[in-house]
Amino acid sequence: MRRCPYLEEYYKDRLGPIRVYHFDCHVDHRSKVKRSLRDSPPICVRNYEDCPLYVAEKRREDGLITRYTD
Ligand code: SF4
Repeated sequence: MRRCPYLEEYYKDRLGPIRVYHFDCHVDHRSKVKRSLRDSPPICVRNYEDCPLYVAEKRREDGLITRYTD
């Protein structure tokens, strides 16, 4: 499974027909929940490179690395 490097806790529950995805993001320090009737995992385990939080944090880290290696 592809997963974002900033993804912390991740698990899936079921509430009757509803799928409940729990995921904690290291970037904004929030525990999030996504509910869906279909199989629809959060972006964190799919195309996480498109997540604005991922993009911002990756850019920040790359900036730090550049500063340390210059
Ligand atoms: S994909 Fe975005 S919301 Fe999900 S863990 Fe990564 S940075 Fe956080």
